[in-house]
Amino acid sequence: MTRKEILGNVRKIIVKVGSAVLTGEDGLDLQIIEQLVDEISALRQQGYQVILVSSGAIASGKHRLGIPGKLKSIPQKQAAAAVGQGRLMRVYSNAFGKHGLFVGQVLLTMSDITDRKRFLNIRNTLFTLMDWGVITIINENDTVAVDEIKFGDNDHLAAMVANIIEAHLVINLTSTEGLYDRNPADPKKAKLIPLVTEITPEIEAAATLEATPVGMGGMKSKVMAAKKVTASGIPYIIAPGRRQGVLQEILDGKETGTLFLPMAERLNSRKCWIAFTLRSRGRILIDEGAKEALVGDGKSLLPSGVMQVEGNFALGDPVTCVDAAGNPIAKGLVNYTADEIRKIMGLKSSKIEQVLGYKDYDEVIHRDNLAVTVQPSGKSKT
Ligand code: GLU
Repeated sequence: MTRKEILGNVRKIIVKVGSAVLTGEDGLDLQIIEQLVDEISALRQQGYQVILVSSGAIASGKHRLGIPGKLKSIPQKQAAAAVGQGRLMRVYSNAFGKHGLFVGQVLLTMSDITDRKRFLNIRNTLFTLMDWGVITIINENDTVAVDEIKFGDNDHLAAMVANIIEAHLVINLTSTEGLYDRNPADPKKAKLIPLVTEITPEIEAAATLEATPVGMGGMKSKVMAAKKVTASGIPYIIAPGRRQGVLQEILDGKETGTLFLPMAERLNSRKCWIAFTLRSRGRILIDEGAKEALVGDGKSLLPSGVMQVEGNFALGDPVTCVDAAGNPIAKGLVNYTADEIRKIMGLKSSKIEQVLGYKDYDEVIHRDNLAVTVQPSGKSKT
């Protein structure tokens, strides 16, 4: 398949742009922002829907306040973001305004999307903004985000947003040309990897080779984000953010940056939510037959396939299913508590009532609440 074919049906796009592209010595680089805005506006003209995930709040605030050197503490960074976020939005608002486009600001933390109700509210808001033709600009809500509720970096945030809106493509604009096979500081030897069909340990290793990490998370976090996005069936491209015309080049199918191919199967938004936003409360060890049923046939997990239960989870909790070797296979919401599953494991569903005194479900995890995170070949999606 050519790039053109892979990107042929793309309509909904997440463009993520990092501080390393947006800021220079003098704070926000207005010329680059104008260039980016011109390109996004041109895509809009062609019927593409674009959501922008933009960093730059902390860097811009720090520059505005004239604070020299590095910001030391988290409160300092949060305070700088409070100053910079407004400035960032004003610059975007002015630039998109020249094209007759309105911008909307959405600031998120991880805890906003682990809550199913808030997740759905965010989803509805983003779809409404898209319907209205507003350019949505998303950033982490830095002023409130402490470690436990943080996305960590905007690469991860963009991956989550892609899952929320079931995007067709994620473009991560960065300050390098893409992913290199070795340290790009050695330009003679380092070669750009144009296509990644599978994120192998070698690809992950290549991502840690850069001399100076780009932006908050560096190349490693971009590749980890690519794993999440491609596991949801969405192609992902790391591309040079300062190159003029980069977005159009990509959508024209030109060999720009590094393209990560999507996994064959597409997870729907609810399953992505289960797989990537919920924290697992325990583990269920399943046998080979159950693994085959889950992965190969898309079936539910029955008590007969359960070999062992770890943890003390409650009804409805997210739990990871692992195979006999301990490899994670799937994550799902359980129909019974950990103690109940310990009692019914290995048994036929017809025995559930006899053992527990009641039976609301035949399945330990119903397939609608189960996100399988490996491919039928057994290769990991996450
Ligand atoms: N949210 C941060 C900011 O706007 C950037 C985080 C990142 O670049 O990953 O400054």
